[in-house]
Amino acid sequence: MFTVTRQRQWPDGTEIVEVSSGGLDYTNPDALGKKYAGEFEEFASPIDAVETAISIARAWRRDARKRIPVGVGSTHGMTMPFDSGTFRDARLWAKEVYAKLPKCAGCNGPMPDSKRDYWHADDWSGQDYCSEDCAKREAEFQEEETARLQAEEAEQDEA
Ligand SMILES: [Zn+2]
Repeated sequence: MFTVTRQRQWPDGTEIVEVSSGGLDYTNPDALGKKYAGEFEEFASPIDAVETAISIARAWRRDARKRIPVGVGSTHGMTMPFDSGTFRDARLWAKEVYAKLPKCAGCNGPMPDSKRDYWHADDWSGQDYCSEDCAKREAEFQEEETARLQAEEAEQDEA
């Protein structure tokens, strides 16, 4: 999970849009108040988080009439201001992080941060799903497949 906040970094006062790995608890403290769409939102994909951060930085630039960078990283739950980077740096980071995320066996989207939030379609395949919906879809698919195979077998028995 990834969260986007606006920050005024201590002690030099750099204003920056930060994308942090983890939920709201993992952003740097004292984020600026919500002004633009997407702030304080939690994103499953770092790519969505970075694109949101970039549009926030653009809007903030227009309003503040100064250069607003995007910073990316992980606080590990501590206070750790991120280095300023270009939009390109942030997009590159998002791509690399996304590639390493565990993916859902159903929709191929990123899995939840905690394995406790993983879903399963059955007890035997060991496949993980990102949501109840994805697990349900797979369970229904397996049911249909089983029914189809049974119907085929019944037909062959008759022949
Ligand atoms: Zn899924």
